[in-house]
Amino acid sequence: MSKSPIQTGIDYHQQGKQWGMLSVPYSYNLSGWSKLQIPIAQIANGDGPTVLLMAGNHGDEYPGQIAIMRLMRELQVDQIRGRIIMIPILNVPASRASTRLSPIDGKNLNRCFPGNPIGTITEVIAHYLTTELFPKADYVIDLHTGGRGIYFYPCAHMHLVDDLEQRRKMAQGALAYNTDFAFLYADIAGTGLLPVEAEGQGKIVITTELSGGEVTTQPVHQLTQAGLRNVLIHVGLLEGEEQTREGLGLPPTRWIEALSDKDYLFAPESGMYESLVDVGQDVSAGQPLGALHFPERPDREPAIVEAHADGILIAHRGPAITAQGDLLVCLAHDVSPEVLKTF
Ligand SMILES: [Zn+2]
Repeated sequence: MSKSPIQTGIDYHQQGKQWGMLSVPYSYNLSGWSKLQIPIAQIANGDGPTVLLMAGNHGDEYPGQIAIMRLMRELQVDQIRGRIIMIPILNVPASRASTRLSPIDGKNLNRCFPGNPIGTITEVIAHYLTTELFPKADYVIDLHTGGRGIYFYPCAHMHLVDDLEQRRKMAQGALAYNTDFAFLYADIAGTGLLPVEAEGQGKIVITTELSGGEVTTQPVHQLTQAGLRNVLIHVGLLEGEEQTREGLGLPPTRWIEALSDKDYLFAPESGMYESLVDVGQDVSAGQPLGALHFPERPDREPAIVEAHADGILIAHRGPAITAQGDLLVCLAHDVSPEVLKTF
C-alpha cells in the first residue's frame, strides 16, 4: 500500500510535549488545495508504554472529545512515563456538523479500516491510523457513545478476542474504567472497525459506550474523565494510585455480553419509539421493552418489542422517530463463568 498523504509537524520520536495537526489534503468547491486540520498532541517521557488515545471517530459523540481536550491541556511531561498520542476529534468534519458520518464523503470512519491512502478523506484518515499510529502503540483507546442514534447505559466494552493474553489485558483495561457494566459486543452492522484493525495488530484495545443521545449529563462527563485517568494509571502511563470499584464503595463491575444476532432487535416498521424500560435494568423473557407507535395511523395499536430472553437492557433507540430497520434495543446477558475465567 502506498504512503499516507497526511503530514504532521509532530515528531513521534521526540521527548516532551508537542502540539500539532494532522493535515489531510482534500478539495471542495471553494478550495481546490485545502488541508483538513485534525488536532493532535504527544507527550513523551522516557521508558514506558505508548498509548494512542482517540475520540470523535463518530462526530456526534462528544464526552470523549471533551475529556481528551482536557487531558491535552492538563497532562504535563513529568506526570507520565512512556508516550501518549492524543487525537480528540478523529472525524473533524462530522464533529462540527454533529453527525455520525463525515459530511464530506458520507463515510463512517468506523467502517473504513484498514483504509486507503488514495481513497476518500475518511479512508485516508483510517489508513494513516492503521499504518502510522497503531504500529507505534501498545494500547489503543477509542472513546465512543451511542451517538444520537443509540442511548447506552454508560459502559466500557470490548470484543472477545481469541488471543487469551490480549483478551485478559483488554478485560483488565475495561475494568479500570470503573463502569457499572463491562460489555462484550458483536459487530452486527458491517466490518472495517477501528478496534478490529488494532486488535488484529495485537494491540490492547480499550473502548467505551458512554451514554448517547443529544444530551451529555454531568455524571457522564465525570465518569468519562475519571475512568480515562484511571485507565492511564492502570496501564502504567500516568502517575497516581489506581482506583478500584471497591475503593470507591461500589459493587464489582458486572460483565455482560450480547454476542448473538438475536440480542439486537430492529424496527419491523417505521414509527415513533417509546421506551418502556430504562437502560441498565434487568428484564425477563416476554417483558415489553418498547412500543413502536404509528403517527400516520394513530388508530393502530403500537407494535410491542418484547425481550426474547432474560437479560439486561444495555441500550435502546435514542430519537423517538424511527425508520424501519433501525436498532431499537440491545439486550445483554451475564457472561458465563467459563468465559470470566479467561479474564
Ligand atoms: Zn461511536
